[in-house]
Amino acid sequence: MPTDQPLGSLENLDKNNVSGEPSPQEVLLAGYPGAALLVNGEGKVSCSNAKGAGLEALIQHEAAPEIREMIDHARAQGCVAAGSVSLNSAKGEIVLEISVIPGLSNDGEVLVMARDMTMERNLRTALVESRQRYKDLVEVSSDFSWETGTGGEFIFVSPKGALGYQVEELIGKKAEEFVLLPEEFSPLPFASSKALDDIEIWMRNKDGSTACVVLSCVPLIAEEDGEEQWKGSRGVCRNVTEERENESALARARRREQHLNYIVSTIRDELEPHNMLSAAAAATARALGVTGCRIYRRGQEEPFRIAAEHGNVEGLGGLDNKLAALDSGDKLAEMQIGKWRVLATATNYRQRINGAISIWKPVDDEEWDDDHLLLISDVANQLGIANEQISNHERILALSRTDSMTGLLNRRAFYEEDLPRRISRLQRSRETAALFFVDMDNFKRVNDVHGHQAGDDAILSLRDLLMEMSRPGDVIARLGGDEFAMWLDGISPKVTETRAARLIEASHSLREFSGDDDHPLGISVGVAIYDPDENEALEDIVVRADKAMYEAKNAGKGGYFMAAPPVIADPGEGVRTIEKPKL
Ligand code: GH3
Ligand code: MG
Repeated sequence: MPTDQPLGSLENLDKNNVSGEPSPQEVLLAGYPGAALLVNGEGKVSCSNAKGAGLEALIQHEAAPEIREMIDHARAQGCVAAGSVSLNSAKGEIVLEISVIPGLSNDGEVLVMARDMTMERNLRTALVESRQRYKDLVEVSSDFSWETGTGGEFIFVSPKGALGYQVEELIGKKAEEFVLLPEEFSPLPFASSKALDDIEIWMRNKDGSTACVVLSCVPLIAEEDGEEQWKGSRGVCRNVTEERENESALARARRREQHLNYIVSTIRDELEPHNMLSAAAAATARALGVTGCRIYRRGQEEPFRIAAEHGNVEGLGGLDNKLAALDSGDKLAEMQIGKWRVLATATNYRQRINGAISIWKPVDDEEWDDDHLLLISDVANQLGIANEQISNHERILALSRTDSMTGLLNRRAFYEEDLPRRISRLQRSRETAALFFVDMDNFKRVNDVHGHQAGDDAILSLRDLLMEMSRPGDVIARLGGDEFAMWLDGISPKVTETRAARLIEASHSLREFSGDDDHPLGISVGVAIYDPDENEALEDIVVRADKAMYEAKNAGKGGYFMAAPPVIADPGEGVRTIEKPKL
């Protein structure tokens, strides 16, 4: 009961009212360790012990009416009344446990005893609060708290359970059953008799997945027969699976990025467009750690053709046909070809498939993982652009090498690229060849009389004629205007002449384009034979063929002229011997 009067502890309210010889009642009260007094039938304190002064004051000042009620109750019922009384003091709340025992004498005297329970009450409250605090913390925490017995079995698990298990499913089970590779620990942290901090353990969830937890624990020690005994362990596991997964996903993404950078920079560093793909195939195989890599290119409506490859390609013949299934850019095709596990995807440029990339490894290797799938897609994106660049380059190159009207090689490509290549090849194969120089006769008149379109038709007609006279390995070039060149590889001098004669004969078909009958459209042909044994320079053959063509013109047009063989350089050439003048 609250009161304004500050009382402090009962021990502080000591008041000695005992004088002379102690009465039996005083002796009785003195034996009680707390405050004790007797209240007579009139409600007056008749006797009190040394600590009873405070209690007496309380009763007499009616500061705690509950005590008075307990006295009345005990007296009326003839039974012990007990209860606690709370009082406010300057030092805080004081709690007294009051017991009233009636029937000590006939005049209604009762014994009132008080014990100061403040300390016990405070201790109990503190204990309850502390228990509640820990209980709340354990319950609210997403971590998993536990206790194990000496056998490593769970004897306590926080109420939410752990690893997808309910508490009941864990209690009594050995922690070891839930740990991946428990043999790697000695002893298992769950059964450690020492304190441990931040030990990373992989555990198995109820659904079979794995969880990474960080464990900290302290040993449970109890005293038994005067000796400290280890009773188990108590600790907390923090589930860091998501963190670890994020970390490893980040690390994998970083590694993929490095691999892609390596592949892309390898492609970029290659100046020659065709080498780009070989470099890309090698870099991809290396970066992905696979047996091989093959890159395809494909024009519109064309089948895939191999553009570059790297590594062991043994037994991969069937791959090309299977690529037809790659109809959309994002699709990844997984297949088994012979002894290989193959992964392929198309390369795109603006939604159009322009090639494919495939990687492979032995069939008994592990399945393709996400890193492979993501990286091959990333590489395919880059190759889509590279393939397009190569096609553009090829287009520009073709344009720069060909004559747009006839589609034949132009003068530059013929002299600078094609002929040097052919001559060096013939020098190895030791075969002869023939260079035909062809110029139309009276072509200007076709233009003059029938117009330029007719002139163009005549040029195309001569192109067709020359193509009929040559084989696929030979080459025809338009050197300019009405002037053409034809190179026939591996032809003998004798056959060359027959071919020249046949060409002149076939050229009679051009007459239909003639401007007038007096100036029929025809051709004059100069022919030079190339013989590798003569080591003739390219320019010299050209000069011989050109001169021979003019010989044909001078001879009246409409015929051919075989150039004389090259003059073999005479070591003495240029040195004139002069006879000594006779004196
Ligand atoms: P010659 O018999 O001596 O060879 O004389 P030609 O009339 O054939 O004339 P020449 O070879 O000296 O000149 C070729 C002419 O071809 C000159 C030019 O007007 C014409 N020409 C050049 N290129 C083209 C072309 O692409 N189309 C047309 N229609 N005419 C062309
Ligand atoms: Mg001409």
